[in-house]
Amino acid sequence: MTTTNNSAAHKLTDGDLLKLIRPNILALEPYSTARDEFDGQHSISAWLDANESPYDNGLNRYPDPHQRELKKLIAENFGGRPEMVFIGGAGSDEAIDLCYRIFCRPGIDNAIAISPTYGVYGVAAQINDVEYRQVALNPGYTLSVEALLEAADENSRLMWICSPNNPTANSFSLDSIAELAERFHGIVVVDEAYFDFSGQPSAIELIEKYRNIIVLRTFSKARGLASLRVGMAFATPLVARYFAMVKYPYNVNGPTQQEIARRITDDVATHVAEILNERKKLVAALNNLPLVKEVFPSDANFILARFDDPDEIYDYLSGGGVLVRNRNRVAGCEGCLRITVGTPAENTLLLKLLTEWK
Ligand SMILES: *Cc1c(COP(=O)(O)O)cnc(C)c1O
Repeated sequence: MTTTNNSAAHKLTDGDLLKLIRPNILALEPYSTARDEFDGQHSISAWLDANESPYDNGLNRYPDPHQRELKKLIAENFGGRPEMVFIGGAGSDEAIDLCYRIFCRPGIDNAIAISPTYGVYGVAAQINDVEYRQVALNPGYTLSVEALLEAADENSRLMWICSPNNPTANSFSLDSIAELAERFHGIVVVDEAYFDFSGQPSAIELIEKYRNIIVLRTFSKARGLASLRVGMAFATPLVARYFAMVKYPYNVNGPTQQEIARRITDDVATHVAEILNERKKLVAALNNLPLVKEVFPSDANFILARFDDPDEIYDYLSGGGVLVRNRNRVAGCEGCLRITVGTPAENTLLLKLLTEWK
């Protein structure tokens, strides 16, 4: 069953990658916007090509459908090259959905994911009518490379590796991700939403060697811009071109492109350092509370902790004005609450409530 996974280790060719793409997407003649068909060679003073309103109110023109400026800035600040970048205007959730739409034939292909992990991979699989195969992490939430490969067959197109993983908070070694990319014949998607909190190297640097890796990043977490809804995918240029073809033409609106460009060099290091310091203090304090049964190691800006009475504690905390995420009913997270690391004042309030429990 796994023989297709043990193919010889060599760099994938364009032909190898194209075999993973759905036939209808390979044959796609992408929509060409008015602005695509203008080559930029002349200086234009009357824009009469796109049926826009000619009255300048700051928002009357369509934005750059290719986000050229922003892709340059993203590559400079995050790694890779502009032609490796996809930008999503509905966060990285948009990139997750596109992975299914580009690679998975509905009703035929399947995707493999670690479990527990981020819920959107499974929901997007169902929306796209793609079988979703969950492979439980080992005790201690470590990765089982063999079990993941064991779950694959010739119709496995995607493998979801969230690192650091939501909700377990730990990350997986780049070596194990490289091994999966080497031995899995489909695409390994590495979701690095919490990368900034981890101190681990990024899988972006593996894309050159393993062309079947896609790396997801977001502006929603450490970068502090969740409200803008901008996420990114980094991929080998051939794969990035399919993202560009399949996405909605103007998927990142103009004000958002400008706002991201303006803030891309924002220094978030101070905030990240404070979160890491608070995380350390919170872990120590939680470990000292008798009602906390286990605190899992965290490489992210949240902590997964196990309690005897998670539902009661969840209600008690929200009654006290502190909202956490109840993961008690997630397979593999029984008894657990997921707690985002907040400001020092917020964390103090959380600990005060937990200390006063019963
Ligand atoms: C929060 C999160 C994201 C980011 O989603 P956006 O749509 O970019 O806001 C992606 N992956 C994981 C695992 C997350 O927890």
